[in-house]
Amino acid sequence: MMMAEAGATIDLALKVLEPTPSCPASSVAEQVLGSFTDPAAIREFAKSVDLLTVEIEHVDANALEEAAREAGIEVHPSPSVLRVIQDKWAQKEHFAAAGVPCAPAAAIASEADLARFGAAHGYPFMLKARRLAYDGRGNAVVSDPAGAAAALSALGGLGQGLYAEAWVPFRAELAVMVAQGRDGALRAFPVTQTLHRDSICVVTETPALIDPGLAREAERVALAAVASLPGAGVYGVEMFVTPRLLLNEVAPRPHNSGHYTIEACATSQYLAHLQAVTGQRVGDTSLTAGAAIMVNVLGDGAGQAANAERIAALRTRAAAEPRCALHWYGKAEFKAKRKLGHFTIVADDRREARAALERVLADFGVGVE
Ligand code: ATP
Ligand code: MG
Ligand code: MG
Repeated sequence: MMMAEAGATIDLALKVLEPTPSCPASSVAEQVLGSFTDPAAIREFAKSVDLLTVEIEHVDANALEEAAREAGIEVHPSPSVLRVIQDKWAQKEHFAAAGVPCAPAAAIASEADLARFGAAHGYPFMLKARRLAYDGRGNAVVSDPAGAAAALSALGGLGQGLYAEAWVPFRAELAVMVAQGRDGALRAFPVTQTLHRDSICVVTETPALIDPGLAREAERVALAAVASLPGAGVYGVEMFVTPRLLLNEVAPRPHNSGHYTIEACATSQYLAHLQAVTGQRVGDTSLTAGAAIMVNVLGDGAGQAANAERIAALRTRAAAEPRCALHWYGKAEFKAKRKLGHFTIVADDRREARAALERVLADFGVGVE
């Protein structure tokens, strides 16, 4: 939806392949009902467009590659990059080989591997699914040797393809969106600080609350990570701040932690993505506001009616705040832990942005401290 909104400003009409009827994008783009994991649907879809791109990495990359070849059109970012990124373990190996610092990790093929990893790297550690992970669905904490079985079954067992990652005692998490042109030219957006709860991003604050030296280092790591991936488009690079900056993971698409760019940067991450994949020069990515805070609005487990009431009140508050922009995705069901929309507050400085946030969230209990 947000990519199509950006496309409209440069006269690019988007068409989306998405299986859920009346998906959020359908209000601003033409929707073709079909699955992005169904080779026949992708082949048919490719015949009706001039260029293919993705906004989720869990697509059938082989089918995408073949469909584009058959239709005689380009696909960006390249399916070879999608194949590496969609398997988080392959991604880890790729970045380790490229010399980008990551937490110690190992593929897990047996319960003995799990015990060995715990003995070598200590507890807790994170057990992660190699594929189809998002918003922490695919992560399980192994707190002690006795907790290994529960973590394994939470992720669907060894057959799913798993890897273990040492616990990172980070003092902050950062993200940098990087646009890579078809010619390899790189442009980084400002470093943003992300706050996750239960592995789901809930808030981002920009500029990040870090010293300028660390911000330069974060930009350097993000540029190095993206330069190692030969594919045009915007990438979201997630990092952990420890004494040393560690790469967490990279998404080959505009990213939730880059939503702030819509209101707070000269070029949004969505416009930058479309410029990059269509071979245009990517616009100015610098901040146009002193500070920006983005908050994800998540469903909770209280049921449809209680969620609707809570969300209506929140939307009223957001609408009353002059420099608060609400993006509502129009999802019909308010499921627990699902992102239903987000709002971004821009201000002249951090203090003002936080004061506005307090007014929107006052006694709201969304848990943003
Ligand atoms: P996304 O929605 O960003 O794709 P994901 O499901 O792929 O998320 P990760 O990015 O691997 O999950 O992890 C989500 C969050 O869990 C991280 O942002 C961080 O807060 C926490 N986390 C992940 N790995 C570790 C680790 N090794 N040590 C400590 N915390 C971690
Ligand atoms: Mg991920
Ligand atoms: Mg992540």
